[in-house]
Amino acid sequence: GDIADEVARRVERAGSAVSGAFLEPTIRLGVTGLSRAGKTVFITSLVANLMNRARMGQLRAAAQGAIRAAYLQPQPDDTLPRFDYETHLAALTGPAPHWPDSTRAISELRLSLKVQPTGLVAGLRGPRTLHLDIVDYPGEWLLDLGLIEKDFAQWSRETLERLENRPQAEAFRAALAGADPAAKLDEPQAQALSAAFTGYLRAAREDGYSDCTPGRFLLPGDLAGSPVLTFAPLPPGEHGRGSLGREFARRYEAYKREVVKPFFRDHFARLDRQVVLVDALGAIHAGPQAVEDMRRAMGDILGAFRPGQNNFLSQIFLGRRIERILFAATKADHLHHSQHAKLTAIMEALLSDAKRRADYAGATTAAMSIAALRATTEDTVTHDGRELDVVRGVLLEDGRRAAFHPGHLPEDPAHLLTPARQGAPAWLDEDYAIMRFAPQPLSLKPGEGPPHIRLDRAAEFLIGDRL
Ligand code: GDP
Repeated sequence: GDIADEVARRVERAGSAVSGAFLEPTIRLGVTGLSRAGKTVFITSLVANLMNRARMGQLRAAAQGAIRAAYLQPQPDDTLPRFDYETHLAALTGPAPHWPDSTRAISELRLSLKVQPTGLVAGLRGPRTLHLDIVDYPGEWLLDLGLIEKDFAQWSRETLERLENRPQAEAFRAALAGADPAAKLDEPQAQALSAAFTGYLRAAREDGYSDCTPGRFLLPGDLAGSPVLTFAPLPPGEHGRGSLGREFARRYEAYKREVVKPFFRDHFARLDRQVVLVDALGAIHAGPQAVEDMRRAMGDILGAFRPGQNNFLSQIFLGRRIERILFAATKADHLHHSQHAKLTAIMEALLSDAKRRADYAGATTAAMSIAALRATTEDTVTHDGRELDVVRGVLLEDGRRAAFHPGHLPEDPAHLLTPARQGAPAWLDEDYAIMRFAPQPLSLKPGEGPPHIRLDRAAEFLIGDRL
């Protein structure tokens, strides 16, 4: 059966890893988040800052000088694309800094750390090597886990309900109105429906929504154009052989079997630690519906780390589990630090809400607000006779250098998380809309702080206990 197969696979895999694993401990760190959450920038900055530890004071082992060296090595998985660290770093740190290309699919990078224990045991032990295998993958793929226990009819019903009132779905609703699920499958029509549905998913994502299954529709990798990605939700009904409805249901099942399950089994189930990056500021700016959606997505994501409740997950995890999960709000450099505590409080509220709803008791979790690469500096200006905390940066769009105030975050996260009321205040409704900053040459002067915000704290939480 499935379990026996899985055990056999595990034994085989363990066998090939065993010699290395005993001598040289390894941490597999998953980095995920929906597209544009900041995965590529995070990994690039994390690796660069672990290699040059000048600005990592909150990573204890770095501050104590226990990390003697950090260097890239060939990764253990020969068939996974390598995370293109050098190209991304060159983009961020070259003479004309620009943001790197974002994550489109899974990739991996191995950073090896040579660690000399400090303190009492320092003299007794020589340096040892810890491999940090970083696995970058789209959060859209993670949300697909929710599909495994839903059949096509249920997924269709839920998806169609959600998009009923969304303007982003207008074209798809029109395409659907012209389709008859009972009619014989017509491939061009199937493609048109699927394209219209993908268009809706993309528009909804751009407007800040987080529900975007099937995740491969947005980030298809090498599956673009294949039948597993050529379907769309349909109204309920039983349909005969060869019909559009029957074929879409079949493709949906194939998507789960051929795409979703292998990803979870081959990659997700092997992670030890996980950081989930969240563009919380973007969702807050987008408004209450997007916040509600982000909250649901965080619950779904956390659910993926709780194998006990889910047959499929229990099978692939076989009793092992992810030890630590960090939920980090990214791009905190859009805010003056006087508002960072509020952002962190919002993340903490979202996380505890997700834990409560998922009845979650498993890995150690934490919530933070970070910026992997600071694109701003801080200032306080007088505006209408009031002191205003601002950030200064260069706009991506027109190169204008100026001071900005994004607007306010609520004092109490509950104001954000209680369902939208009539006349509820809008948050981050001042300059936030235009605040797309260009990365700055790394020349922050002394007193302006490190070129990141709390990246060292994130690293301490994720790997500090193993250094
Ligand atoms: P990915 O899709 O998750 O890989 O996202 P990226 O890492 O490519 O980041 C998407 C965009 O977010 C970047 O192009 C930047 O515009 C912005 N971004 C990411 N990290 C930061 C950060 O630390 N500070 C600022 N100001 N912007 C960031």
